[in-house]
Amino acid sequence: MMAESLNKRIAHVESDFALRKGYVYEEVSSQLLKEVETVYKEKGKLTDEVLSALQCVFQASLLPALDLVDKRSVSQVICPAGRSLYQVVGSSGTPYTCFTSSVYCSCPAYRYSVLLKEEHMMCKHVLAIKLSEAIGCVKILEVSNQDIANMIQRIE
Ligand SMILES: [Zn+2]
Repeated sequence: MMAESLNKRIAHVESDFALRKGYVYEEVSSQLLKEVETVYKEKGKLTDEVLSALQCVFQASLLPALDLVDKRSVSQVICPAGRSLYQVVGSSGTPYTCFTSSVYCSCPAYRYSVLLKEEHMMCKHVLAIKLSEAIGCVKILEVSNQDIANMIQRIE
C-alpha cells in the first residue's frame, strides 16, 4: 500500500516536472526570440552572445535552421479569406507545411523527434520560421482560398 502511493506520488511529481519543464522551455525560447529581434534591429546581425544562447536552447536544430533562414526558405502563405500557414522549403528541396501556433510541421522529424520522442520542442523548419520572423525575412506568398484549402487537406 505504501509503495503504491509512493509510486503514484513519484509519477505525479514526474509529470508535474515534465509539464513545468515544457513551460519553462517555451518561456525561455520566446524570450530569446524576442532578443534575436531586438539585437538584429539594432546591429543588423546576430551577436556571438545571442548565437551561443540560441545554441544552448535549440542545440542541434540551430545550424540547419539558420541555413534555411540564409537561403530565404521560409514563406508565409496567405489567402483572401484570411487563412494563413507557413511553407518551408527543406534542404532537399521538399516544401513542408507548418503552423507556428502548434509547432506542427509536415516533415518526418516532427513526427518522430517532436511528437514521439519529445527530444526537441520544434523541428528545424518551425525554428527557421521563428528566426525568420524575428529578423524580418519571411516571404509573403499570396494564393487563392482553394490553394490554401488544398494545402491544408493534404496534411489532414
Ligand atoms: Zn519540420
